[in-house]
Amino acid sequence: MGTTNTVVYSYLLIKNFGFYNVFIKVMLYVIYDCMNKNSKIQKTEKEWKETLSSDEFCILRKKGTEPPFTGKYVHNKEKGVYTCAACGNELFSSDVKFESGTGWPSFWETLSNDKVELKTDTSHGMKRTEVVCSNCGGHLGHMFEDGPQPTGLRYCINSAGLHFKKTKL
Ligand code: FE
Repeated sequence: MGTTNTVVYSYLLIKNFGFYNVFIKVMLYVIYDCMNKNSKIQKTEKEWKETLSSDEFCILRKKGTEPPFTGKYVHNKEKGVYTCAACGNELFSSDVKFESGTGWPSFWETLSNDKVELKTDTSHGMKRTEVVCSNCGGHLGHMFEDGPQPTGLRYCINSAGLHFKKTKL
């Protein structure tokens, strides 16, 4: 009987160990999958070209700048949220948009600190702070320290890098 019990016990142990082993692997896979979904979007330039309009591609992927006073959101006063035109990342609230007189949509704050990444940009013989979507790496515009209070910041953003989601009334 003792031997039988040991065999059964061993069998159960291996079986259960196997189950938990599989269970742990499945859980790790689920966690890894979730982390991947939350991580940055990575597409080839060819893939971006297929999903973005030519203006959006020029701004977001080629770090272009639209001429002042030409963008569709320069004078937009509607209530809502501005998102990244490439990935939908919610970037700015209409509540922090202000008339800077520069000809580009201007905001004094992002929706939260993790929405954009700031990078040093030394192109065109200037030292500026580039604003990049933290989710897809798309170029949005530049940030300057001459904005209104309470932040004193001015996020100078290209309309073509943005989409606008109007608040439902
Ligand atoms: Fe994005």
